[in-house]
Amino acid sequence: MTAKVIDGKAFAANVRAQVAAHVAKLKETHNIQPGLAVVLVGEDPASQVYVRNKHASTIEVGMASFEHRLPVDTSEADLLALVKSLNADPKVHGILVQLPLPAHLNSELIINTIDPAKDVDGFHISNVGLLGTGQKSMVPCTPLGCLMMLRDHHGKLAGLNAVVVGRSNIVGKPMAQLLLGDSCTVTIAHSRTKDLAAVCRGADILVAAVGRPEMLTGDYVKPGATVIDVGINRIERDGKAKLVGDVHYESAAAVAGAITPVPGGVGPMTIACLLANALTACCRANGLPEPEGLTA
Ligand code: NDP
Repeated sequence: MTAKVIDGKAFAANVRAQVAAHVAKLKETHNIQPGLAVVLVGEDPASQVYVRNKHASTIEVGMASFEHRLPVDTSEADLLALVKSLNADPKVHGILVQLPLPAHLNSELIINTIDPAKDVDGFHISNVGLLGTGQKSMVPCTPLGCLMMLRDHHGKLAGLNAVVVGRSNIVGKPMAQLLLGDSCTVTIAHSRTKDLAAVCRGADILVAAVGRPEMLTGDYVKPGATVIDVGINRIERDGKAKLVGDVHYESAAAVAGAITPVPGGVGPMTIACLLANALTACCRANGLPEPEGLTA
């Protein structure tokens, strides 16, 4: 079998276009412009690239973008004061503090100071609790993107066996909660899981969020399964820098029914879902109906 390739780039472009259409309608009918604030502390090169991309994508869909770049030695008090001022700013509907923060800053405290209704990353403890109890919340962007692609590919997910490899707070756990919310039978695997390959071979849906280049080979895949590769790993091969996932693409694609590539799979969906979350936050803040198909 040769797997269908799930084109995350095209899917993300479609999500962004839907967001842009909603934003235009909000302006036209209610004179409201959703606003997204991104806070970057320090000069981590990867974070700078992400923040630049987020800014450009926000403008592209017609939202207001508020960028706050702070020096690496910013005090916790100053950062907390900025977050509180963004919480109080009615033009700002979404707030994202780019992680990782410099070591002297308490990330948990900063994230939990964001107004949960503006927490477009879905990392605030209230949103974690709401998602865990099946209530309306802001959902972390990467798992939300995976869920959208899975719903699109399968239609209903109820009753399917899903295995999520990885139990991080930003990917693995929320991914598992979302799949459970769609009535999958969910297994969460991690570094202590025994006979991981056998566990994975039970999956109709296999989500890899491990952070280990090409670890899950075709031997981990049930014939016909859908494989979602969240991994982003920079490796060197034949003297060249290369981006690979947590799944060994060639061997997995030979067994799977559908698969997301790296790059061009889950990655582009993350920023698209950030924009979708900012739009959702804006609609909720104004008591307007949420955009259909762009939330969990
Ligand atoms: P973490 O390092 O926080 O978590 C990795 C998880 O994988 C842990 O739960 C760990 O288990 C598990 N794990 C590690 N080694 C093994 C192993 N040998 N067998 C089974 N499980 C193992 O990573 P993240 O969740 O933050 O990210 C995962 C991947 O997704 C990374 O490649 C990251 O770059 C990528 N990513 C991509 C995004 C995107 O936009 N596409 C966004 C965020 C992340 P244990 O808990 O037992 O240690």
